[in-house]
Amino acid sequence: MSDLTGKRALVTGASRGIGAAIAKALAEKGADVAITYERSADKANEVVRAIEATGRRGFALQADSADAEAVKRSVKEAAEKLGGLDILVNNAGIARGGPVAEMSLADIDAILDVNVRSVVLASQAAIPLLADGGRIISIGSCLAERVPFGGVTVYSMSKSALLAFTRGLAREVGPRGITVNLVHPGPTDTDMNPAQGEQADGQRGLTALGQYGKPEDVAAAVAFLASPAARQITGTGLSVDGGANA
Ligand code: NDP
Repeated sequence: MSDLTGKRALVTGASRGIGAAIAKALAEKGADVAITYERSADKANEVVRAIEATGRRGFALQADSADAEAVKRSVKEAAEKLGGLDILVNNAGIARGGPVAEMSLADIDAILDVNVRSVVLASQAAIPLLADGGRIISIGSCLAERVPFGGVTVYSMSKSALLAFTRGLAREVGPRGITVNLVHPGPTDTDMNPAQGEQADGQRGLTALGQYGKPEDVAAAVAFLASPAARQITGTGLSVDGGANA
């Protein structure tokens, strides 16, 4: 028996990186898991196979988080395939950098659509489907609280927006025992932010531990917040950033 046995979870943007690790961690703890992806069908199917290898059911749904209708449809489809919904993890996110003075409208819109609007819309679609005692967990960033360098201003703002969303939504769904929380990764080794990338040493130097995190580090925090042990934690954030914001 594991602490998520029988639970049904949807993780957005989980064909690669942190989302894939979250999907696998939830399955290892006993949940059936649906994932969304934008382009990487093969990688999404690999994640489904890893979920199935734990003995749980897995489903991959193509849904562009920038597309409002696709987001809403994917939440409904996930709940249909899973036979209900207990856990929503809003993980899909994109990073488009550059100084504000030089950012294109297309990049600003893409960040807001994927990192902010899709979180609102997926949560909105999930609320009537979530079982009482359910979980909404979003992936923020250490940059939501502190922005130690330029070139990530709009991205950081998109993650800060999730702070107020999390607090407000926790108030709205709390009477049903549904908790709403954020997990804030620091530099984490993925395609988005490789540990050997050009900017990596600077980011590593900002952490107290002097090291990058692994996707599994973030997944462990999400699995904890999804578990019954976290029933009294809501409307808050948990940093998994190696002390980047210490
Ligand atoms: P990656 O770029 O490595 O992976 C992104 C995942 O999200 C992929 O599965 C990708 O799908 C999916 N995705 C991207 N855009 C869309 C979209 N429009 N619609 C649906 N799915 C999409 O990112 P990470 O794993 O590093 O990041 C995951 C989350 O963690 C993000 O919210 C990010 O902002 C946050 N974060 C990451 C940090 C880091 O250092 N890595 C630090 C702080 C926060 P596909 O494969 O189909 O493209």
